[in-house]
Amino acid sequence: MSKDFLKGTRDSYDVVVIGSGLAGLTSANILARAGHSVLLLEHHYQLGGMATWFKRAGGHIFDISLHGFPVGMIKSCRKYWTKEIADSIVQLKGIRFENPQFSVRTTFDRDDFTRIIKEKFGIAQETIDRFFDTARGMNFFDDQSKTTRELFEEFFPGRSDVVRMLMEPITYANGSTLDDPAITYGIVFSNFMSKGVFTFEGGTDRLVTLMKAEMERNGVDLRIRSLVEKIEISPDRRATGVVVNGKRIGCRSLISNANLKTTILNLAGPENFDKAFVEEAEAVRLNNSSCQVYIALKPGEHFDDLGDLLFHSEHSGFDAQAMLSRQVSSRTFSFYYPRTRPGSNRSLIVSSTNANYRDWADMSEADYLASKADLCESTINCLEKYIPDVRRKIEHVEASTPRTFEHYTRHLQGASFGTKFEGLKVSRELPQQIAGLYHAGSVGIIMSGWLGAVNYGVIVANDVDKYLTTSGQ
Ligand SMILES: Cc1cc2nc3c(=O)[nH]c(=O)nc-3n(C[C@H](O)[C@H](O)[C@H](O)COP(=O)(O)OP(=O)(O)OC[C@H]3O[C@@H](n4cnc5c(N)ncnc54)[C@H](O)[C@@H]3O)c2cc1C
Repeated sequence: MSKDFLKGTRDSYDVVVIGSGLAGLTSANILARAGHSVLLLEHHYQLGGMATWFKRAGGHIFDISLHGFPVGMIKSCRKYWTKEIADSIVQLKGIRFENPQFSVRTTFDRDDFTRIIKEKFGIAQETIDRFFDTARGMNFFDDQSKTTRELFEEFFPGRSDVVRMLMEPITYANGSTLDDPAITYGIVFSNFMSKGVFTFEGGTDRLVTLMKAEMERNGVDLRIRSLVEKIEISPDRRATGVVVNGKRIGCRSLISNANLKTTILNLAGPENFDKAFVEEAEAVRLNNSSCQVYIALKPGEHFDDLGDLLFHSEHSGFDAQAMLSRQVSSRTFSFYYPRTRPGSNRSLIVSSTNANYRDWADMSEADYLASKADLCESTINCLEKYIPDVRRKIEHVEASTPRTFEHYTRHLQGASFGTKFEGLKVSRELPQQIAGLYHAGSVGIIMSGWLGAVNYGVIVANDVDKYLTTSGQ
C-alpha cells in the first residue's frame, strides 16, 4: 500500500499554504510564529521549490538557484527566519564579464561599477551618479510606462557596451528585457548595487534544513508529496479548503505559492471570479524558463580562482532574445569552490542560460536527449576557454531544461521567475475576488528571485494575519 503523506492532519487549519518555495515557506513560518495553525503542502519530495539541490553518486551536491542574491536577504532572514540563517549569508566578490565588448572583474556594487563605467567606458561621473540615483529612487508608485530601454537611452545613448554591463546580469537574475517597465530594472539593480552579490554558505540543502527546523519549532504542519488538486471556494466567495491527494482539508485562509495562473485558472477555477479578472489573469505573460548544465569535478580536482559568477557571451552586443535561443551564445557560469560547503573537497560548475519553453516542449524523446547531450558538450567546449584541462577532471555532467523545471515545480512552461510585471496586480487583487485567498511567490519580476520571493511571502503573511484577526470566523 502507498504511504499516506497526510496521515494525522487535522480537519481544518487557520491557514493552508500550497507550495514550499521561499515565499510559501516564509509565509508559513511567520503565520505559525504569530500563533495561527498552519498546514504547508508540497507536491515534491523536497521543500524549497526552485531553491533546491540534488545529489549524485560520488557525493556531489548541485545547487539549482544559488548563484547570487542582494544583501537584503540578511535582514529578511534575521527578522523572519533565524540569526543562524542570516549569519550564513556571505558575499561573492568575484563577478566577471567576458564578451566581445569587454572583459571586466568587479565586486558588483555601486562604487566599483562607477569606477569601471568612468575609467573603462569614459562616461562622466555626474551622468553615472544621476543614473544610480534615478535607479535607486524608483518605486512601485512611479510612472510605469517608461521602459528600461528608454531609461538607458536617457543616460547612455548609443552605448551598447554600458547597457550590456548594466543589463545582462539582471536579465539573468529575473528574465527582464529592455521592453519591461524601467522600475522592474531599477529596483532589482539597486538592490544588488547597494552592497554586491551574496550567497548562502553551506548550500541550499543546509538553508532548507534550517528553515524546516525553524518551522517545526513554530508548529507548522509540513507535508511533502502532497499535491493540491483543487482550492475549494464557497458560494459566497470565500476560500474554505483544499483537496490534496484526494482528501479535503478545511481552512480559514489560503496562500497559494503555486504559479499565479495555475492558482486562478486551474486550482480555484475561472467560474469563481469576475469575468474581467479572469481576462486579466489570462492576459498575464509568463516569464521565460532556463536550461542548466551541472558539472562535477573528481574529488580533489579543482580549478584556479576564476571568480564566482562569470557572464560569458559570444554575442556582439546585449540581446535578451539571443540569450533565450537554443543556439546558445551566452552563459552564466557559477563556480563553486570547496568553501561553498565548508569541509568538502568538491569543486563544481553550474552553467545557466535563459530559455524558451517552446523550444524544448514538443521534441521527441530522442531529439530531447540528443539536445541535452549537445548542450552538455557545447558547455564543456566553452568552459575549456577558462579551464583548459576541464574534460580530464570531470566526473559527472548532466543538463536540465524548461521541461525539468516544469516537472519539479509545476510552474507553467517551467517559468523560472513567475510572471511578467502585470502579474503583480493580479496577484495582489486575488483576495478582493475571493475572501481569504492569497498568492505569494515569484511574480511581476520585482517579487522574483530569493529576496523578492521571501519579501513577498512577508507582505502576504501580514495581509493574512490581518484577515484572520479581523474576519473573526
Ligand atoms: C535556473 C534558475 C536559477 C535561478 N537563480 C537564482 C539566483 O541565483 N538568485 C535568485 O535570487 N533567484 C534565482 N532564481 C529564481 C528563484 O529561485 C525563484 O524566484 C524563487 O526561488 C521562487 O520562489 P517562489 O516562492 O516563487 O516559489 P517556487 O520556488 O516557484 O516554488 C513553488 C512551489 O509550489 C509547489 N507547488 C506548485 N503547485 C503545487 C500544488 N498544486 N500542490 C503542492 N505544491 C505545489 C512547487 O512544487 C514548488 O515547490 C533562479 C531560478 C532558476 C530556475
